[in-house]
Amino acid sequence: MITPETQLKWLPTRYEGLRRLNRFLPHAGQQYSRLRNFDYGPLRNNHVSSLSPWIRHRSLLETEILREVLKKHSYATAEKFIQEVFWRTYWKGWLELRPDVWSTYCGSVRDLTECSMANRESRKKITAAYSGDTGIGCFDSWVKELITHGYLHNHARMWFASIWIFWLGIPWQLGADFFLQNLLDGDPATNTLSWRWVAGLHTKGKVYLPRPDNIKKFTGGRFSPIKQPLNQTPSLYNEPPPPRQLDIITCWNKNRQTGLLLTEDDMLPEFLGTPTNDFRCCAILNSSNHRSPIGISKQVAAFVNGGLQDSLTNFLRLTQIPQDHVFQTESVDRLALWLAKVDIEQIVVAYAPVGPAQEALDLLDTKLLPLGIDMVRVLRREDSIAWPHATKGFFKFKEKIPSFLKDINNCIKTAT
Ligand SMILES: Cc1cc2nc3c(=O)[nH]c(=O)nc-3n(C[C@H](O)[C@H](O)[C@H](O)COP(=O)(O)OP(=O)(O)OC[C@H]3O[C@@H](n4cnc5c(N)ncnc54)[C@H](O)[C@@H]3O)c2cc1C
Repeated sequence: MITPETQLKWLPTRYEGLRRLNRFLPHAGQQYSRLRNFDYGPLRNNHVSSLSPWIRHRSLLETEILREVLKKHSYATAEKFIQEVFWRTYWKGWLELRPDVWSTYCGSVRDLTECSMANRESRKKITAAYSGDTGIGCFDSWVKELITHGYLHNHARMWFASIWIFWLGIPWQLGADFFLQNLLDGDPATNTLSWRWVAGLHTKGKVYLPRPDNIKKFTGGRFSPIKQPLNQTPSLYNEPPPPRQLDIITCWNKNRQTGLLLTEDDMLPEFLGTPTNDFRCCAILNSSNHRSPIGISKQVAAFVNGGLQDSLTNFLRLTQIPQDHVFQTESVDRLALWLAKVDIEQIVVAYAPVGPAQEALDLLDTKLLPLGIDMVRVLRREDSIAWPHATKGFFKFKEKIPSFLKDINNCIKTAT
């Protein structure tokens, strides 16, 4: 549950994520189901978990959250919360099966930023939106909330995106980019696809238009916007590209000299091997600043850096890796140079899904090849179970949740 105290402090540690999870657990059942859509504002009690910044960076795992929730509640009572957790899994899988949607989006952000800034009228409109100066009270307040806290309630994100697209008439890609700069949980798949969903690009015949009565009701009357004319007609739905086959690797050869690589997409490397025996060296490659061409806010950068430091400290506590065998960088070139010196045959890394970390790993891979160092990207079992099913809409995907949970449980039991 978000309280004024929790919202103001976003400590990036795993410990803090676990602390919040424990506080939220009693509320994950009927209370969440009934009240999750109400947004009483950043300094009020909301009935959601506020776990997304930890889940996004995998310093808290969906599997452990689901396990703890199901210890406290029956599946039926916690079904709504469980489904929300699986929305993220669905978006991650959907984009992983269609990486072109991300590259097209990135190209549009670059082009649109250039074009819009070159045109006086659109520059004025966008600048007003970025600074929360549009005259639409609720929207301006959410801009400030986003910039100050790095977080918005899910319903506020939906209203924000629909006002951005349909009342302000600004291309959705620029709004999605603004979110990625400022959200502590900024995530290529969930963010891009949620914006596409609001714009009407994801589900045929479905578009999310702003509704003043809905905003008034679910903000507890804090806002009562006046209906504005539509400034943009809903985008035309296009059939998405067909899903590709995933190349799934879930284990690696422990008889080779191996280094461990951490990225901001998975801060719990323990599933990759035993810290004491398996790794000769450990490196961090942080690509989070590439979430947007403009970079990320200081607050987001501090959260990602803090999370990576926490992860490294927790990991190194269990190893005998000497300090000169630990390296941290944002530069692929510098990492490749360093790895060339530490005498390893392969580097093992948790699979980084579509986004800047994956792009950085692709580049690193090309630089390691001539050095004779292989890169092994290990996909978590839970992802390998669920992602290949994100081929159609969420409705079809969510029917499979009970069987995903059964398969994930079996994997956990076999591994322990
Ligand atoms: C336009 C738009 C952009 C968004 N961008 C992001 C983003 O960049 N990163 C991000 O993590 N979420 C994003 N979301 C989804 C959702 O708003 C957040 O995950 C949620 O608000 C996080 O708050 P919470 O942890 O309190 O959620 P809770 O309601 O407590 O849910 C628990 C967890 O389930 C997952 N979840 C909940 N709702 C959704 C959803 N609609 N889609 C996917 N996963 C969900 C999250 O991991 C969340 O932490 C976006 C939604 C919209 C409409």
